[in-house]
Amino acid sequence: MKRKIYFTPGPSALYFTVEEHLRTAFKNQIPSISHRGEEFSNIYRDTDKNLRELLSLPEDYCVFFTGSATEVWERMLQSSVRSESLHLVNGAFSRRFSNIAGQLDLNPRVVEVPPGQIVTVDQLPDNYEPELVGVTHNETSTGAMQPLEDIRAIREKYPEALIAVDVVSSLPVVPLPFDIVDSAYFSVQKCFGLPSGLGVWLVNNKFIEKARHITGRSSYHGIDSFLSNYRKYQTPATPNVLSIYLLGKVVGDMLEKGLDRIRMETRYKSAILYHLLESKVELTPFVEHQAWRSETIIVAKGKQTGSLAEALAQKGLVVGRGYGEFKNDHIRIANFPTHSKEQIEMLADQIDGMVN
Ligand SMILES: *Cc1c(COP(=O)(O)O)cnc(C)c1O
Repeated sequence: MKRKIYFTPGPSALYFTVEEHLRTAFKNQIPSISHRGEEFSNIYRDTDKNLRELLSLPEDYCVFFTGSATEVWERMLQSSVRSESLHLVNGAFSRRFSNIAGQLDLNPRVVEVPPGQIVTVDQLPDNYEPELVGVTHNETSTGAMQPLEDIRAIREKYPEALIAVDVVSSLPVVPLPFDIVDSAYFSVQKCFGLPSGLGVWLVNNKFIEKARHITGRSSYHGIDSFLSNYRKYQTPATPNVLSIYLLGKVVGDMLEKGLDRIRMETRYKSAILYHLLESKVELTPFVEHQAWRSETIIVAKGKQTGSLAEALAQKGLVVGRGYGEFKNDHIRIANFPTHSKEQIEMLADQIDGMVN
């Protein structure tokens, strides 16, 4: 059978080198090694080193591994918030983060705008000191992207707060200013193009110091436990060793290719897709304001998106359906580093032929 190309937001197409690294991993029996041995610590160290280089992480950042980005939401709130977290909500993922704060009996304060928009800084409360501000850089459910200038403005507005940025579907494409952020996280099945089942949580020293002052909330994935293990390049529990290995390899490949090139290609490919949508009557960009349009998740709205997705699938081109309430009104197209210009052009040509 002809191989499909997955343009779904996540899981998505694997980074094109994953299969080869997987073969090497099995040859070297990586899935069977002890997570308390030197071989695993070397893998963790390599992945940590590559990620630091790719993302230009400041020295004081730690790189922790969890089961998912969803887990990071809970760990982050448990370890760093006594009661007041502030959430910028503009879709399903940012909403879920604030819901978890509610489940933990914290006092989440939510500033919400309709899907397809972003919360602007002037909408945030004055005379208020949140302990943590949750920003979703790229709201995968709608394709709306928060401009980086906003994150700078939030830093200025709340100088004491921890700023936590969800970069699940935009790292490493977004040049996140880590110097003004205290925590950032992603899971690997989106932009990094890996099999699902690993969350990556980046925290700086300010975050760790704050967490240290919150006692009585320790857990196996509490900051103390993460940190004491990280010093040995270990993890609190048996982690997804294979995925940590693959992440290190794929990040190494991205370093070799060069992040500038990856970013340029992403911009070029997203321009092809938005240009196509601008030229159509029956399929248009869901995010109206250009400055808020995501480069990595392109969301289009239209009346026949269900049958369009099916027709594309017939051609082996699998796009994402709308998220939640938008299931039948949107398609979502991932434009990740593994998607080549040729693949995006082919997809655009097919859509062009199918839609007025
Ligand atoms: C997918 C996604 C998540 C959740 O990731 P999991 O790996 O399923 O926990 C969180 N935030 C955003 C923006 C996402 O796209």
